[in-house]
Amino acid sequence: MVRRTSAERRIPIVLACTVCKARNYKTSRSRQPNAKAVTLKKYCATCGAHTLHLETQ
Ligand SMILES: [Zn+2]
Repeated sequence: MVRRTSAERRIPIVLACTVCKARNYKTSRSRQPNAKAVTLKKYCATCGAHTLHLETQ
């Protein structure tokens, strides 16, 4: 369920587990000059637990 607007520019990013470095999720974020790196708590199948995921490219 991704809504795309032509005026909106989204940067594709990959969320990687900070514990085992597995790349578990693909998502996107809006293009903002001062945007901080996205960190989300997500389930990691490799760790078998919810861990912090950090955006990578
Ligand atoms: Zn993990």
